[in-house]
This record gives sequence, structure tokens and C-alpha cells, in this order.
Amino acid sequence: MLKKLFKPFRRQRKGPEQPTVLEAHEHQLSCADFSRNSANVAVRLQHAGFQAYLVGGCVRDALLGITPKDFDVATSATPEQVRQEFRNSRIIGRRFKLAHVHFGRELIEVATFRSNHSQEDESNNDRSAHDASGRILRDNVYGSMEDDAQRRDFTMNALYFDVSSERVYDYSTGFADIKRGLIRLIGDPEQRYLEDPVRMLRAVRFAAKLDFEIEDSTAEPIRRLAHLLADIPAARLYDEVLKLFLSGNALRTYELLREYDLFAQLFPGTAKALLRHPENVDRLLRNAFKNTDKRVNMDRPVTPAFLFAALLWPSLTVRAISLQNDGMHPLPAMQEAAHQVLLEQVQRIAVPKRFSIPTREIWDMQERLPRRAGKRADTLLAHPRFRAAYDFLLLRESAGEDTQELGNWWTQYQDASDSQRREMISNLSSKSTTARKRRRKPRTSKPKHTAPGHE
Ligand code: ATP
Ligand code: MG
Repeated sequence: MLKKLFKPFRRQRKGPEQPTVLEAHEHQLSCADFSRNSANVAVRLQHAGFQAYLVGGCVRDALLGITPKDFDVATSATPEQVRQEFRNSRIIGRRFKLAHVHFGRELIEVATFRSNHSQEDESNNDRSAHDASGRILRDNVYGSMEDDAQRRDFTMNALYFDVSSERVYDYSTGFADIKRGLIRLIGDPEQRYLEDPVRMLRAVRFAAKLDFEIEDSTAEPIRRLAHLLADIPAARLYDEVLKLFLSGNALRTYELLREYDLFAQLFPGTAKALLRHPENVDRLLRNAFKNTDKRVNMDRPVTPAFLFAALLWPSLTVRAISLQNDGMHPLPAMQEAAHQVLLEQVQRIAVPKRFSIPTREIWDMQERLPRRAGKRADTLLAHPRFRAAYDFLLLRESAGEDTQELGNWWTQYQDASDSQRREMISNLSSKSTTARKRRRKPRTSKPKHTAPGHE
């Protein structure tokens, strides 16, 4: 009796397949929390006789008071039926077939309810397929709203908002988990990771973004199954890595990726460098992520080229030193190491050329920034990659690399007047001639190749 009186919400659970229905006053959401276009898409589909709800990240974020960055609609209409309803739509995807409805710059993703396909569906390879380890290869078997909820990843991502009634439908424990700050996989965690190992990265990403805990049974298999990421296509991992590190929570994400042994799966070379030089490499990465987060949170542009330059620098330097130890000169050793490191990395994470080329330029500039004599400093300053290269130099210094005050020099040079610049350059050449003279004295043979980092 007492329990009844104090029960905060009048929730109705009719049977195992029936969702918990939350009324507007229980969840505090309204249509105003969602973009007008997304609400209109849902209403139009409902008027056409289909079920349609806002779903996933937008409902989760709105419940947490975060402005959703995009809006997804789940519907009983097939992509073709959605296409017929909206002239401004397109069908996309193969692994997941979806309809995209375009309103100027806003894009609403409309997905048909899918089911966690049973074994019989496996005979129909066009619609659904798993590989030997249970990984989902294609997922186009349509189902009911409840089926759709079961195949979503986390309970917090399986909430459906009905714009007409302003009710939230919860088929698992999403609403309660959001209140408790818990990331919980729907179903058997191990099986869900086997179906799609990327869910391990998603768990970490959401934990960092929302400052949530990963619930114990959802967390437990991750270290054991981290190696499954090796089977994920490099193009998909590239998309995930950008979301991991360019969403404003890179530092926390990095800590969690390391905690769950996922970092080494994504960046094996960097993970090895971390074992060799734990403190310096960790400091460089942390500083890189801190800077990136600051920029993202101030809405300033960030480029994946800089991110990969930082993430791979430790492995590049380890490689270059080992090539030098094998007798290669420092400059070609850096070039060769850069080439090898990128080649290996793109097999795991498909960094497109439009970013890997500037990554290399940022690295190459590290070799050029110390050479400032004559007209070189001004040529470097005018280089389109100068700013990124200079920021990268400061990053290296912040992690304890000794560059002989080079960052400071460049900071002053940028702020200096023309005459001050000329003076800085001449100071430089007088310093380097005395250095050269002093060095040359005892030598009788030809001077050796100059190491990078010296004038
Ligand atoms: P955000 O957009 O903030 O990254 P999100 O939850 O919207 O978060 P999306 O990648 O946009 O993430 O996916 C939309 C929804 O699709 C998710 O909320 C989830 O319900 C479902 N989903 C996405 N990826 C998976 C997956 N790998 N396995 C199962 N369900 C998934
Ligand atoms: Mg989303």
C-alpha cells in the first residue's frame, strides 16, 4: 500500500514485450527539445499510417539537458516508403539501409525498425549475414518497434519519443540507467560485442562524453575481447577514431581506451612507444588531447592531420632512432620512419590522403623549423603548414623534448618587426658561425652530415 502511494511514476508494464511508457511530466521532454524538421518527419510518417519516433542519441542527450547534435527517426515504414513520402530524401547504405531526409543543411536520418535476425534469416544473404565469430555483416531484416529496441546497443540509446503524445517508450532500463549515469548493453554483453566489436569503443566514447560509468557486466568482457577490433574494416575505425578524439572529450577518452586495453588495438606503434617511454609519450598525448578539447569546446577548427601527427609522433621517433642506429643519417631516417609509420597505421585506421599528407608535412616541418638562416625563416613563415608545424613544435616542447628554445624563438619572430627579425637572423648566423668555427677546429677531414635540429 505504502509502496503504491510513494511510487513516483504510474508506469504500465503489461508483459515482457510491452515498453514502459513515460508521460511528459515524468520525463520533462517536449517537442521543443527536438528540431522542428525531425518532429515534422515523424508526424508526417504517422499521418501516412506508419509508426514513427525520435530515437537514440537525441532522446538520450535531450533527457540529460545536452543539445542533441543530430536527430534520428525510427519508423515502421521501409526506406522505399520513406522515399515516397519525402521528395527531399535519398536511400543510402548497404550494411544499414536508411533514408536521409534533407532540409537545407539539416539531415534527418530515418531508419526502419530492424530485428535481431534469427537463424532462419541467415539463409537470405541479401538481407542479413554474420561471419564465423558472430559479427553482423548486413543488417536489413525489418521488425517491430520492440525488435528494433532490442538490437540497439545501450539501454540509454533505446528510448523512443513520440512527438504526438510526448510520451517516451522504454523497452529496457534506459530511463533509469540515464538517471543513474550507467552505460549498459542490452542483452548478453559478450554476444553483443561479438556481433559488433565497435560497441566497445562506443561504450568508452559515451562514458567520456556523458561522464557515465560503464556498468560492470558491460565493462567486464572488454579487455578480453579488445582484440576483435582487428577484424573491423579500417574505414569504419577511422570514422570511430574521429568521433573518439574530436568530440571535445579526447583526454578522458584516451584514459578510458588505455584502461580497457583498447588503445593498443587502434594505435599499436604508439602503444609500444608508451611502453618504452611511458612518461614522455603519455605527456605528449595528454597535452595534444587537452589542446584539442579546448579548441573543440571553443568551436575552433581542429584537423585530423594534427591529431594523427601527435598520435603517431612517438612511434615515428622510436622508429627513426632505430634506423639511425642501423647507420642511416638522421634526415633520411625521419623520412623513412614517417613513411613506414603511416603505411602501417593506415592498414588499421584508414586515414585518407587529404589528412595523411598534411600529417607528413607537419612532421617534415619539424626538421625545417631549426634551419632559419638567410631567407629561410621567412619562407617557412609563409608556408601554409607553418601554423600547425609551430603548434606541433610547442606541443613537443610541452612534453619535455629539448628543442633548444626553438619554440620561443619562433614565437618572438612572429611578433617581431622587420628590423627585429633581421637582427634575430643575424644573431643566429653569428652564433652558428662561432659554433661552426669551434666545431671545425680539431677536424682535419670533411665535415660530416649535419644532424637535424642544428644550424
Ligand atoms: P552520437 O550521435 O552522440 O554519437 P548516437 O547514440 O546518436 O550518439 P549514432 O552513432 O548516431 O549514436 O547512432 C544512433 C543510434 O543507433 C544509437 O543511439 C543506437 O541506438 C544505434 N546504434 C548505433 N550504433 C550501433 C551499434 N554499433 N550497435 C547497435 N546499435 C547502434
Ligand atoms: Mg547520433
